[in-house]
Amino acid sequence: MRIGVIGCGYVGLVCGISFANMGHQVICSDISAEKITSLQSGNMPIKEQGLAELLQKTNRQGNITFTTDNVQTISESETIFITVGTPSLPDGSADLSYLWSAVRQIAAYLQSEKSGKKLIVVKSTVPVGTCDDVATFFAQQGIGGDKVIDVIHNPEFLRQGNAVHDFLFPDRIIIGCTSAESKEIMNQIYREIKAPIQFCDRRSAELIKYAANTFLAMKISYINMIACLSDKLGADISEVARGIGSDPRIGTSFLQAGIGYGGSCFPKDLLALLKIGEDHACELPLIEAVAQINNQLPGYLLEKLEEQLGNLAGKRIALLGLAYKPMTDDIREAPSLRISGRLQEADARIQAYDPFVKDNYPISDVHLFASAEECVKDCDAVIILTEWEEFKQLSLPALTQFMKNPLIVDGRNIFSIQQIKEWALTSTFTYVSVGRPTVS
Ligand code: NAD
Repeated sequence: MRIGVIGCGYVGLVCGISFANMGHQVICSDISAEKITSLQSGNMPIKEQGLAELLQKTNRQGNITFTTDNVQTISESETIFITVGTPSLPDGSADLSYLWSAVRQIAAYLQSEKSGKKLIVVKSTVPVGTCDDVATFFAQQGIGGDKVIDVIHNPEFLRQGNAVHDFLFPDRIIIGCTSAESKEIMNQIYREIKAPIQFCDRRSAELIKYAANTFLAMKISYINMIACLSDKLGADISEVARGIGSDPRIGTSFLQAGIGYGGSCFPKDLLALLKIGEDHACELPLIEAVAQINNQLPGYLLEKLEEQLGNLAGKRIALLGLAYKPMTDDIREAPSLRISGRLQEADARIQAYDPFVKDNYPISDVHLFASAEECVKDCDAVIILTEWEEFKQLSLPALTQFMKNPLIVDGRNIFSIQQIKEWALTSTFTYVSVGRPTVS
């Protein structure tokens, strides 16, 4: 099938390259000339596991092209996926300006050209009713069923860091469309992927995406709320999480206590759902609490640091991990930003190491190092902010030898208390984590 993808970010690239790899003819466009130039020369502008290799393989097959010209994408494809960003506006609602810009270009093309019929698939996460609005807009522009088969919603559930795998092996594919013709096209597009497809109306599909993300964020905030209580009670949140998670009605995933969630999706999708609720006079107190708990966590972790160090002015603090999660270089809404901002306010000296974030960190006072060992050298404390596998393999007795003061604040609970206690038998350090007793 001839597929167009508008927006070459994490979702657009994974989706476009994967579709091309399945044998579809794909054209992807983006307004960022830098990204497109990089892609045209075979280089991957984002860090996403397996994606650069998949692009190389796909380039050899010759069925993917990249352009800065959305009109070319629109004209050359039968099905157009819109995968542009939908970030937060100051009032929390989703900024749909990128989406509407793409929609207007599609409409202009369909009005002016003798094109065949096209299926418009909104893959970006959009407020409920957006696809209805897009369909109404086309109708108002005089663009009828002879030009647009349908406007449908196909939310994406990939996790950055595992995006290629998640796209190729999803738990389910949600498609908000009701017409037989668009269902048939989507079945063809996804024919290689062995996952159940749930067809539903597009409003439900739009709500499914928000409900899924806010539910996962709720699990994280729930365990973090219990972790704060666990700190007061002298319990071990890892044991608590294991104990409740082994009940299959609860499940073990997303029950890792720590500094909380970040990234380009959970924070903005929570805010957007709250705004949707407000606009429809429907209070969502649970979602408000989820966001509130998450917002308090950086301050909570820094209180633990101050309990150990006192005034932070002039103290040298090492941050291990800047990305919001492992296996990505994405720092959007990463907890590291809040932590570094607060440390900067406190006049601390900040050093950091992240395996993927090597430059372009927006807080200039954060000095980046090439390894964990170099980063912690002469520091008064180290704070672990991303659960990189590389950090899980560190030996704390060895690492703390480089430090001025052997204090570890583990914002991701990456070490078991048992391991820490074993190390503490032969080595001197203080280990502070979230929802678990301090070991020193
Ligand atoms: P992103 O910011 O990484 O990429 C968006 C891309 O769209 C950018 O490269 C930007 O230059 C481009 N763009 C903006 N306007 C354009 C236009 N008019 N024409 C062409 N290109 C344009 O965003 P992302 O992380 O890929 O997310 C895209 C959407 O998918 C969002 O709605 C997001 O909520 C959703 N989503 C993201 C993830 C994720 O893990 N990142 C997962 C599921 C869903």
